[in-house]
Order: sequence, then C-alpha cells, then structure tokens
Amino acid sequence: MIFDILTIFPGIFESPLRESILGKACQRGILTVRLHNIRDYAPDKHQMTDDRPFGGGEGMVMKPEPIVGALEAVSPLGPTPHVVLLSPQGRLFTQDVARRFRTMPRLVLVCGRYEGVDERVAEHFVDEEISIGDFILTGGELAALVIVDAVARLLPGVLGNEASPEAESFAEPVLEHPHYTRPRDFRGYKVPEVLLSGDHERIRRWRRMQALARTRARRPDLFSRLVLSEEDRKLLDEYDRLAP
Ligand code: SAM
Repeated sequence: MIFDILTIFPGIFESPLRESILGKACQRGILTVRLHNIRDYAPDKHQMTDDRPFGGGEGMVMKPEPIVGALEAVSPLGPTPHVVLLSPQGRLFTQDVARRFRTMPRLVLVCGRYEGVDERVAEHFVDEEISIGDFILTGGELAALVIVDAVARLLPGVLGNEASPEAESFAEPVLEHPHYTRPRDFRGYKVPEVLLSGDHERIRRWRRMQALARTRARRPDLFSRLVLSEEDRKLLDEYDRLAP
C-alpha cells in the first residue's frame, strides 16, 4: 500500500516511520510512505504556503495553490489515490474507517497547519476530510501518522501474528479483555488464577466475560451496539453475581 503525505514539515515523520513495526513494514516493501513538501509546490519566489484570512481575524490560512499543485504532481505517481484532508471538522477516524482505508491501494494524506486550509481545497480537491478526535492539534502530521499506523497494522504481513488484529478491541464493538504477563505476583497484586489454570475453555469464557463487562462499564456507547449471544448474557449475569 502506498501513502503519499503532503506536509510542510516532512521531518516530523522520520523517526516514527523508521522504528519498530512501521519501519519493518517499510523496509520489507509492504508499505511505501512518500513524503512531499508542500512548500516545493508554492509558485511564488518566497515559497509562501500561508496567508492572512479574508475577512480578517487571527492566524494564517494555508493557501490553495501549493497544496493543489502538490496534489496534481503526485496524483499520477501510482494507482488512483483516495485523497484525505486531515481536519478536526472531518468524519471521525475509527477502526471501521481504518478497515475501509486498508482496501485502498493508495492514500494521499494532506496535513494542514495554522488556522487550517483554504476551504476550496476541502470542497473541490479532496475525497473526504478525516478527524482523529474531538481536540485540536497544531497540525495534521500526527493525525496522518495515526492513520498510517492504524491502517498499516491491518495489512497482511505487517504484524507477526496474523490473527491478532481481528481479535482486538473494535473488531466487534467490544473492548479487549485484560492482559497479564510475568511475574505472577507483582508487589502483592496477583494474576487471576484462571489464566494459570491451563483450562482453555475456562480462559476463553473468562476473557469474554471481562471484555463484555468492561465494555459495558467504560464504553456504554459501544455496548449498546453489541449483539449479545445467549452465552454473553449468561457470562454477564455470572459477572454481576461475582462482582463485589
Ligand atoms: N482552526 C481550525 C478549526 O478550528 O477547525 C483548526 C486548525 S488546526 C490548529 C491546524 C491543522 O491541524 C488542521 O488544518 C488539521 O490538518 C490538523 N488537525 C488539528 N486537529 C485535528 C484533528 N483532531 N484531526 C485531524 N487533523 C487535525
């Protein structure tokens, strides 16, 4: 899969794309991330990428010409891209969106800065706007990295254990069960006995019970979308009976 990232700060991406799982995926060619400096496409001699807002007000706005110039230059460099503008006003990025993006051969991510991007870019030159949450970042670069990370780990061959992405939180609208590792006793806090039992069926039932109970407690919005099986109901009843 190819990501083309349009930014005025390409240096922000260097370390995250070099390290760990993303770094390996890039090295192995499963993932190609190409960085394009929007400034290189500014038509004026000072390579200005921002200007004052029409109508007055605080801050600067990213000019349309450099961004659209960059989009037009990178567009022919591979399969037809899906173009995403990072914006706090966009559709919320979720695991479902990550799964949808995974099926695309190529994504172009446009990172805004300052007060944002001239509205004509959003209206006429991108396929959709995406927000990574209800908060304001200083720029779209970290949001773009969040998207690259979440999508890349769904690509075949990126994670060592191919089964794991689908077992995780949000594969269905339920949070994942808690995890424990050694030592068995850490400062008096013990690993739940069932996980040491070697009884796989008991462990499966316990994990499902924990996943359901914590989704109900922490994310009632997800829990309300969950279709509970007969076993799920029994597990939740059991949890409620056992709960202190
Ligand atoms: N003035 C804008 C507003 O209120 O909608 C916010 C601009 S923000 C300071 C600058 C840039 O950061 C945006 O153009 C966008 O690319 C990026 N950004 C900020 N928050 C974001 C979020 N939650 N999700 C995605 N991108 C974000």
